[in-house]
Amino acid sequence: MSGTYLGMPSFPRAAAASTRDMRLRGNLRHATHTIRAKRAKAVEELGDWEQLRAAGAALKNRTLRHLDHYLEQLEAAVSAAGGHVHWACDAEEANRIVTELVRETGESEVVKVKSMATQETGLNDALAEAGISAYETDLAELIVQLGDDLPSHILVPAIHRNRDQIRDIFREKMGSWGRAAPRNLSDDPAELAEAARLHLREKFLNAKVGVSGANFMVAESGTLVVVESEGNGRMCLTLPETLISVVGIEKIVPTWQDLEVFLQTLPRSSTAERMNPYTSTWTGTTDEDGPSAFHLVLLDNGRTDALADTVGRQALRCIRCSACLNVCPVYERAGGHAYGSAYPGPIGAILTPQLRGVQSELDASLPYASSLCGACYEVCPVAIDIPEVLVHLRERVVEGGTVTVRGQKTTIKPAKGHAAERAVMRAARWTFDHPRALRAGQRLAARSRRLTPRRLPLPGAGKAWSDSRDLPRPAPESFRDWWLRNRGPDTAGHEGDPE
Ligand code: SF4
Repeated sequence: MSGTYLGMPSFPRAAAASTRDMRLRGNLRHATHTIRAKRAKAVEELGDWEQLRAAGAALKNRTLRHLDHYLEQLEAAVSAAGGHVHWACDAEEANRIVTELVRETGESEVVKVKSMATQETGLNDALAEAGISAYETDLAELIVQLGDDLPSHILVPAIHRNRDQIRDIFREKMGSWGRAAPRNLSDDPAELAEAARLHLREKFLNAKVGVSGANFMVAESGTLVVVESEGNGRMCLTLPETLISVVGIEKIVPTWQDLEVFLQTLPRSSTAERMNPYTSTWTGTTDEDGPSAFHLVLLDNGRTDALADTVGRQALRCIRCSACLNVCPVYERAGGHAYGSAYPGPIGAILTPQLRGVQSELDASLPYASSLCGACYEVCPVAIDIPEVLVHLRERVVEGGTVTVRGQKTTIKPAKGHAAERAVMRAARWTFDHPRALRAGQRLAARSRRLTPRRLPLPGAGKAWSDSRDLPRPAPESFRDWWLRNRGPDTAGHEGDPE
């Protein structure tokens, strides 16, 4: 696997392969169950969790409603503090801006930290094409990069790897990227961490350019915030002479005080910690302290189009805690790579089709990568109703309709392969609109119930659906008939309803 999501298969095809990988499933099951249990305990400690959750959702909603205002306020504050703000409408523009900024420094290496946005834009590949090496410094990202792999989890990008695999990757690959791992390296976590620490220390001390993301941007002061657990972020943010931060425009909060909510909900939801071990904040540049040049690249890449969707826009509230991944039965079995984007799991299933559209087979399949059990909504610290958005996006896939693409209203056609679903839904709508037909159908189904097959014999989606489920046998009597028989026709107000 290379560091790109281009050309990945649809979710069902990718999941068909990954669900057969028993080692992957074992790794995922162990990791997600451990994290979710710890998170539940950390959340239980707070008596006002639901209020914090509601406050986080309300804060994000208000900010998104006035996004243009807060972004301009942020730009003015960053500029006043000595930083430079660049606007990138898509991935290509963001990569071009970063590449040119690195070239201007004359350097050919950068260290990176905490940037899902650059994973989304494919920055590492763009830099490599320009002859610039990008070194990931988060431990899990390092494992992914050395293994020529892709992240499969928001918080634990190498969650699909176990300790044996990590030891082998370090032994085989570390030497070709810098300081080699000891030849007798074991799979002891402390030894693995020490090998990574020594390898990365060299990178930090030599790096002249750092590339980061940010968890939050404070509009009133132009401050960026990174929360992390390893301390690598602080090295990347303070040691290089030039710092370039690539951040999605939805990461903004109006004031410092707003952080009070998110700095409580984010660590408990993600790492089950009461507070983050490292919270780094920086505002522009300061003489003789930290980088002397700071560039902020504000990334749209489909976000304003998502904002135009009154149902789907709630996905932009996401603070990337990953709690929804850890409770999702589909993610636990299929793994993160099956989602074919930087954003796996339930949030990926609603965010990616909004950022990239639903035209490709992969993106059209993502809203179906869910059992709609609702566990993701229950744990989300900003109360994103993920099942609601999934159903909304399924309708878009099946029916097509008007969407916003690059700020323009555009009509998209229904995706291929959903004709049967459309026909069934239209038939259901007609039947529910015609009570006599519904009643006749129910009686016919009840009388012929013994003939009802347990599987749908026809090829296509219906067969695929019933291959993994029993078709429910109709009841011997409909509720309406039961009511008539037990309570009498006088109480059956609907019996004589006009068609
Ligand atoms: S959708 Fe909610 S639970 Fe999932 S990563 Fe985003 S904030 Fe966390």
